[in-house]
Amino acid sequence: MLYRKVPKTGDELSILGFGCMRLPKKRGGGIDEKRAVSQLRYAIDQGVNYVDTAPAYHLGKSEKVLARALADGYREKVRLATKLPPWQVRSREDMDHILDTQLATFHTDHIDYYLLHHVSGSNWENMKNLGVREFLSSAKNDGRIKNAGFSFHGDLSAFKEIVDDYPWEFCQIQYNYLDEYNQAGTEGLRYAAKHRLAVMVMEPLRGGNLGGQIPAEVEKIWEDAPVSRTPAEWALRWVWNHPEVTVVLSGMNEELHIDENLRTAQDGLPCSLTDTELSIIARARDAWQHLMKVDCTGCRYCMPCPAGVDIPGCFSLYNAYHLFPHDWSSRWWYITRHGGLLSSDSYAGLCRQCGRCTAICPQHIPIPDRLRDVSNQMERMRYVIVPVLKGGLWCMNQFGRVRRLFSHRE
Ligand code: SF4
Ligand code: SF4
Repeated sequence: MLYRKVPKTGDELSILGFGCMRLPKKRGGGIDEKRAVSQLRYAIDQGVNYVDTAPAYHLGKSEKVLARALADGYREKVRLATKLPPWQVRSREDMDHILDTQLATFHTDHIDYYLLHHVSGSNWENMKNLGVREFLSSAKNDGRIKNAGFSFHGDLSAFKEIVDDYPWEFCQIQYNYLDEYNQAGTEGLRYAAKHRLAVMVMEPLRGGNLGGQIPAEVEKIWEDAPVSRTPAEWALRWVWNHPEVTVVLSGMNEELHIDENLRTAQDGLPCSLTDTELSIIARARDAWQHLMKVDCTGCRYCMPCPAGVDIPGCFSLYNAYHLFPHDWSSRWWYITRHGGLLSSDSYAGLCRQCGRCTAICPQHIPIPDRLRDVSNQMERMRYVIVPVLKGGLWCMNQFGRVRRLFSHRE
């Protein structure tokens, strides 16, 4: 196993981290706890020393299963990362209560890496107003957390603002060879590194899709490459090639995949890919992009939209919906990210067709027309009830509007 240092502390973390958001499941649902514990301990025995979970994973069960895996001396072998869910926080007292509950769950007196989960521009403002910066500093002072960070899926400008707003030790971003210009992207990665933040990367395989069932056009590029690697190996090596990356989190649940990732990690040195290898990956990226419905590069020149539409964010999930039709998560993320559940409304149907963005787009995308396609595809569900989040029960109506049916506070 290779290790990289956290810039502000010198802490050495394994470049492969175990993400506990997709633990193995039993037939009929529910975590296969015995198998999950065995997989986690096996990975730790092979040198993985960073494990990441959150209250939201597996409907709250992930933390409990990880706690069991970390019994019998395994807690001391790892840096434990878990998260504060902003959507469950109504007050400063809630923050302390949630953290203290997590400490009790893990039978530990500290969390090594504590993140605000899924922060974006709007919920960061709300958390600041509730005193989250004071909470983090006080939890660091009294030793309940060692390092403070945040996980992020918003846009680049919000990312920079959050990096600037607190002396974080680390952050966690989505990053893979298809998302160089999406969300924080390469510019965000470099910005965080310049501010001496360790960067933990999530979704290196885009939810497993870059290593799973891939289109024939992309498969052929990997088959013709002079170096023989699996699609997952190519994708992971690309992320580790960036010296600014500290840990790559993989949500592993198959023994074969764990072994493959452990093997790949042995070669995951920064700047270790040759120009030829990088050009092969660039061809694979081009092939993926060719298959996309909307040729949006995520440059964000069209932003902000006066109607509040997150134009590249909507296109990104619309593309993902078409590229990976077997994967339901793009629609789910569309509802949560753009439908107002985790941040303010930014869905395609808000477009007022003013045309301001079209003249700016370097890809000459007829943005309002394509947004109409996105709206028709992604917002047409009729009254689909989604879980209780952010203080209420929400539904999506037949016009694509995400609505709150009722709120706990009402
Ligand atoms: S056309 Fe639509 S997406 Fe473009 S700026 Fe106007 S409202 Fe926003
Ligand atoms: S300007 Fe065009 S390519 Fe850039 S983010 Fe907007 S829609 Fe995408």
